[in-house]
Amino acid sequence: MDVLNLIGGRWAEGAGAEFADANPARPDEIVARGRFASAAQVETAVEAARTAAPEWASTPYHARAEVLAGAAAILDRNAEEWGEELTREEGKTLAEGVGEVRGAARILRYYASEADRENGEIFPSPRSGENVLVVRRPVGTAGIITPFNFPIAIPAWKIAPALIYGNTVVWKPSSLVPLLAQRLARALADAGLPAGTLNLVYGEGEVGGAIVGHPGVTAVSFTGSTAVGRAIIARCGELGKPVQTELGGKNASVVLADADLGHAAEQVCAGAFRSTGQKCTATSRLIVEEAVADELLARVARLAGDITVGDPLRPDVRMGPLISEAARERVTAGVRRAVEEGATPLTDAAPYTGDLAAGWFVPPTLMELPATGVEFWRRELFGPVVGAIRASGPREALRLADQSDHGLSAAIFTRDLGVALSAVDHVRVGVLHVNSESAGTFPHVPFGGVKQSGFGPKEQGRAARDFYTHTVTVYLGAPA
Ligand code: NAP
Repeated sequence: MDVLNLIGGRWAEGAGAEFADANPARPDEIVARGRFASAAQVETAVEAARTAAPEWASTPYHARAEVLAGAAAILDRNAEEWGEELTREEGKTLAEGVGEVRGAARILRYYASEADRENGEIFPSPRSGENVLVVRRPVGTAGIITPFNFPIAIPAWKIAPALIYGNTVVWKPSSLVPLLAQRLARALADAGLPAGTLNLVYGEGEVGGAIVGHPGVTAVSFTGSTAVGRAIIARCGELGKPVQTELGGKNASVVLADADLGHAAEQVCAGAFRSTGQKCTATSRLIVEEAVADELLARVARLAGDITVGDPLRPDVRMGPLISEAARERVTAGVRRAVEEGATPLTDAAPYTGDLAAGWFVPPTLMELPATGVEFWRRELFGPVVGAIRASGPREALRLADQSDHGLSAAIFTRDLGVALSAVDHVRVGVLHVNSESAGTFPHVPFGGVKQSGFGPKEQGRAARDFYTHTVTVYLGAPA
């Protein structure tokens, strides 16, 4: 399929370089083609968004909500077909692809329901006859830059709050997943979004940089790697522009001696290997209390070894490929380096030969690390690889879980509620799962990380309002 940019309400071929979107399971198959937007087209897109902003901001909440609900219905109607397209372009399994499209519909519906919630506060005033109102206004035009790994859910959880709170948008998706971006933008346009309210521009870092630096873009929301995110934070700092970033993770799962080991092993595998480990919240560090380490590691290794890897369109396949050849090289090199530093593979970690070598596949891998000093402990690989370490007891386990520059999510498996709650104090993360895998979010609750995993207001739920609106404090006195 040919994808087009959406600029000022018109579907336009880009005036920049051509690009092709390949299926990571079968890289010879082209899923979509298009052309990147030129600098002039990015300029036109920002101008269109600025021009559309006042009218959209004054459109009643319920009318804005109707567009989001309409788009959600379109997503639901097309979930099977678009889920399959998502699988073809990103490589997650068909169940995950269809599930993500339906999840994006749920996100749109959640933000549509904002129209029926309270919006603002009233405080008493010490002055007679006066009240103090705190009302919320849109921030203007949001620049939104999204990663490859959730091609429709992450864009939905940024674009939906931006729109419901009255902002217009210029959106640059990852150039690795242009097709689902096209589907979401078309669903919103078909649901009645006015021209210029949402602009979709394809491109790589250059287009992203142009959006971030444009004076017409009044706030920037970014999800992606820590390196790119930090550069965007710095640029927005120079420009005095509000910025929200959700970045990389090095998420730990902690399994204590009193845990249900069967359940913990299943959940560790789900957290580590679903979506081929390409989730910001994926488990990549496993900390096991010494007393149960042999048994737990044997269970995880057995489950990992049983995972059917292959073309994710096949219903029996439980893990697909990585997104690209570069990702396969990065993950393979990361495992090799860990082994050189003394890690012991507990699963077959040898790169695939035969049919699977033609796609960007890597095996689900569990390694036991010699110590926390190894590079694997610190560096996000973004693939289906877990490095395990033993802890002498709960206190040391929590200390090790916290031993990271990242702080996105963590999981703890225990029957001891006291220990689980002490993790809240001792493991600095934005998301903590007790007895469930480290990945997974609901649209109605805040999501985001601390330390190097995130900067600025959280996403999702009502937390998103703190980024996409600013408050106006109105001292409303009675007429004299
Ligand atoms: P990425 O390489 O940082 O790319 C993210 C987005 O930024 C893409 O649209 C990319 O465009 C664009 N970009 C690249 N260089 C840029 C620049 N100099 N200026 C502006 N934009 C630029 O990340 P990714 O590989 O897509 O995603 C994986 C990373 O995202 C992992 O680190 C993962 O942990 C993180 N992530 C975090 C969360 C979270 O919520 N914390 C969620 C999902 C993913 P192109 O792709 O077209 O180059």
